[in-house]
Amino acid sequence: MAEPLAEYWFKDSNFDLRQGEPDQAQRQAVQQSWVKTLRRRDHGQSPSQERLEVADLLESCNRRCNSAACLLCATASQRWLIEAIQELWPEESLSTATLIIPSLTRPLGNLHSLRLPSAKRLIHRKFEAAEAEHVPLVGFLDISHNTHAHGAWPDHWAPHAVCCFPSEFTPDLKRVAESLPRDPHSPIKRPGRIDPIENDEEQLSYMAKPRATRRINFDSFSSKARPSKRWLKRPELIELLLWLSTYSPDERLYLQNVRRYQDRLTHLR
Ligand SMILES: [Zn+2]
Repeated sequence: MAEPLAEYWFKDSNFDLRQGEPDQAQRQAVQQSWVKTLRRRDHGQSPSQERLEVADLLESCNRRCNSAACLLCATASQRWLIEAIQELWPEESLSTATLIIPSLTRPLGNLHSLRLPSAKRLIHRKFEAAEAEHVPLVGFLDISHNTHAHGAWPDHWAPHAVCCFPSEFTPDLKRVAESLPRDPHSPIKRPGRIDPIENDEEQLSYMAKPRATRRINFDSFSSKARPSKRWLKRPELIELLLWLSTYSPDERLYLQNVRRYQDRLTHLR
């Protein structure tokens, strides 16, 4: 298996692109639009130095910037992760769990106060408290901008851990999911969702999504009760890119009790 960020992971011809998945030229076009967004003046004000630096980084990525903000590197990293999981558990039946931990949510404009190492420690404590810290799993810290169609609650950033694990540990993951707090006045109605994986590539690709979305929630009595997903608007896109630029894609991984592996999938402790 090629190393993370090896040329192999950047070449579309090595992969079957899923329906609607952008190809290299489209990814570059999106990234270029982000560069423009970062450099654009706001109401006559020059963008901050930090924004200009992130714009330079994204513009000059020659497939090696290794920034979590970079669509090209994050896509390569996602491809690597999917194959790493398949090689790690070639025979096992796998499931995914999406764990939403309310204390990780942040108001818009406040994402900088979320630090990945402490978020991962918090998740680890949830596993410990539910006596599930022995479960081997590969998780990824995803983040979305949650908004309500009718303003029922304030917009916020909702970090969540998307975890993949052998299905035999489903009861353990259910314990973790059930231990997470629920708040009836927030969008978090199901803090832990567990799904068996039937189609590896398709479902694993929900892990480590290289591009964040805005989830628009509706009241549950509405006929449009399912949240719809859009790309981020400009202020949130800028906030997220600045935050992501302080990490590499593999720093977003949450690993627990994962066996030895030749690449950089390592044990957390
Ligand atoms: Zn890059």
